[in-house]
Amino acid sequence: MKSWVEVSEERLTGNYRLLQSAAGGGVAVLAVVKANAYGHGAAICAPVLARAGAEWLGVTDVTEGVAVREALAAAGIVHERQPRILVMSGLLREDCEDMIRCGLTPVVWQREQMEWLADAAARYGDEAMPVHLEVDTGMARQGVTPGPELDALLAWAKDQAGVRIEGVMTHFASSEVAASVQTAMQRKRFEQAMTAIAGAGLHPEWVHAGNSSTVDNPSNEGNVAWLRALAEGVGAKPMVRTGIALYGYCLPIEGNGRNAVRQTLQPVMTWKTRVIGLREIEAGDTVGYNGIFTADRKMRLALLSVGYADGLRRELSASNARQGGWAMVKGQRAAIVGRVSMNLTIVDVTGVGEVALGDEAVVLGDGVTADDHARLAGTIAYEILCGVQAGHRCGVRAG
Ligand SMILES: *Cc1c(COP(=O)(O)O)cnc(C)c1O
Repeated sequence: MKSWVEVSEERLTGNYRLLQSAAGGGVAVLAVVKANAYGHGAAICAPVLARAGAEWLGVTDVTEGVAVREALAAAGIVHERQPRILVMSGLLREDCEDMIRCGLTPVVWQREQMEWLADAAARYGDEAMPVHLEVDTGMARQGVTPGPELDALLAWAKDQAGVRIEGVMTHFASSEVAASVQTAMQRKRFEQAMTAIAGAGLHPEWVHAGNSSTVDNPSNEGNVAWLRALAEGVGAKPMVRTGIALYGYCLPIEGNGRNAVRQTLQPVMTWKTRVIGLREIEAGDTVGYNGIFTADRKMRLALLSVGYADGLRRELSASNARQGGWAMVKGQRAAIVGRVSMNLTIVDVTGVGEVALGDEAVVLGDGVTADDHARLAGTIAYEILCGVQAGHRCGVRAG
């Protein structure tokens, strides 16, 4: 394994508890482990989060859901359908059998989806299939639209024996924006939908909305309180769905506000590689593809066994005109020099002291965060973390 990810179970557990306490009493915190737990390894993170107290885990599709159920079983977590696994993005006909057999719970928003499930439940299940209904309140991505479309779906769903609307949810588009006008509008539409749902005589057990930033945005304390009141109003339990914050990152709050928990979260991932080459170069020597970096003095370089094929962004490359990224070697910054290549990256270890072949280097972790990578790559920490293509290990570190 030339590059690998170490996961701090302590930090993951700590972040979960922090979010749980920030969400407040009575609000459940669903732990999102989609996209291989944001690059951290779902098979490692799901059992840790279940042990930390997560009643619900969230995945993208049925393939991820089956893998998470198997990982929980392998970790000895085999209570009947616990923790629950919410499959959040897309249910097709061929997914229904696995959904039932593995005790997964789909998010639905179209009548066909519920018809397929009812069919499959009659064939493979022994009870009505619980589903969570997504309401589109302004993303135009997933969800049924409040108004006639929702009313028609409810009128139909009410009499179905094969499916049971256990939860109702929506997703906010701008939860990291302080006092967001868009969030206010989405809240109104969700309230309208809840009125229609109660009016149709349906009694969901769960009402959920909001992501990491909803918990982290102090102006959104109002939003969590609003969610709690809305859920309690229909006799349901409120829940938020947190992803990135579990792993130690969160977007900065936009507008007039500060993050509530971002600064207390602890990054969970340490992405490491090893030194596979060492050399000295002279002033005037160029480094890497196209020679975009020329040494202005004698330098000592270390070759790292990691590159853009592993998800190390090429935007971290460094020329003489533009500073790039860095790795941590022996606890010190070693600047990337020249272009990041497909499987190799060169760093400057001139000032780092004794470095030997086989030494470890931290590509992302303490001293070089996903936010650092994101800034250089012109993106967000989400994309950096999900893009890490490495083996996964759990490794409990101090701190
Ligand atoms: C990914 C996702 C989340 C988690 O979002 P974060 O910003 O990572 O906390 C919540 N809800 C849904 C529906 C999602 O798809």
